[in-house]
Amino acid sequence: MAEVNAHLAAMHESYLFSEVARRVSAYTAKNPKKELLRLGIGDVSRPLAPLVVEALKSASAEMGRAESFRGYGPVGGYGFLIEKLVETEYAPLGVTFSADEFFISDGAKTDMSALQELFSVNAVAALSDPVYPVYLDANKMAGRKVVLLPCKAEDGFLPPLPNEHVDFIYLCSPNNPTGAALRYAQAERFVAYARRNETVLLFDAAYRAYITEKDCVRSIFEISGADEVAVETGSFSKDAGFTGLRCAWTVIPKKNRLGLNALWARRTAAKSNGVSYPVQRAAEAALSPEGKRHAQQNVRFYLENAAMLRLAAEAAGLQVWGGQNAPYLWVKCPNGLDSWQWFEKLLHEKQIVCTPGAGFGSCGQGYVRFSAFGTREETMEAAKRLQE
Ligand code: PLP
Repeated sequence: MAEVNAHLAAMHESYLFSEVARRVSAYTAKNPKKELLRLGIGDVSRPLAPLVVEALKSASAEMGRAESFRGYGPVGGYGFLIEKLVETEYAPLGVTFSADEFFISDGAKTDMSALQELFSVNAVAALSDPVYPVYLDANKMAGRKVVLLPCKAEDGFLPPLPNEHVDFIYLCSPNNPTGAALRYAQAERFVAYARRNETVLLFDAAYRAYITEKDCVRSIFEISGADEVAVETGSFSKDAGFTGLRCAWTVIPKKNRLGLNALWARRTAAKSNGVSYPVQRAAEAALSPEGKRHAQQNVRFYLENAAMLRLAAEAAGLQVWGGQNAPYLWVKCPNGLDSWQWFEKLLHEKQIVCTPGAGFGSCGQGYVRFSAFGTREETMEAAKRLQE
């Protein structure tokens, strides 16, 4: 009999989202006429910009003509897209990279789960608690030891520095699920720690377009010296609406002390044939001035949703974090309820679906996450019901 990966086999089913789905379908089976307001999702609801759709169509048409047909592209991504990323995402922050420091992929989830392959199975990973579950699952599947960095209300749910040796640290800012965003001073502390301890920072910037406050870092590379110790992933999902189209990027500077750029290039060449040409043309269009305007409108729309939910929750006497630099609100459960108890109450009494914070880690117990990615109508209705 074939021996399966014991670490994978030991993983239980993703408890959080399957349990939410199970409880929601049990409720709808009993209450088919009740309309649910789904604030649990991390998926966007606004469509792609028309020019992105046009770029997809014309690139697809090119593929249907012999003279412009393209087969396999460069595994790390086409130059036209990387040039635009350099120009629009990094140059305005005063950061420069060469094309071979970028790797285009089909998603930040793909990259953030795979980057741990750069390290030995004996390397120790550190991640926040609560955490975007992908980082934890990827390391558990690889059989690696993880250290949790407890994120507390008194620290604005930002992670502390590890107090034992770790080899790499996941940082997600703005954060899913808490909505917290790292300030420059905090990011500087992590970079200084990483430089002192020969640690690598894996920085997930999937929500960076949501930053509204001036003192929050948009890229870890804004911090001097980060190019020797950090790796960063960005995504087209949450601002340009590419969750269904799939495109993201990872920057691994060639200055990295461990030579991670060459290792990732080797690994990518072995495991990927890149992202489709039409999708990369669509991503290029999303970075054009008109594409950026459209993405900013999306972000503004979701942040307005977040503000509406935040006001309503505060008016109801709830304690709320996030929503200012992120499309997520992190809300303390009232009256000593735990995450699942309040989830049940919101579902049965208000027909609101949220995500129980306990599912993101033990420090998430006693909190829930509300997503601002819904439509305006359902967000307004949810705000009204919350305030009631
Ligand atoms: N990183 C974080 C922190 C996320 O919350 C998500 C999606 O919810 C992703 C990455 C996934 O991004 P992508 O759609 O590019 O895979």
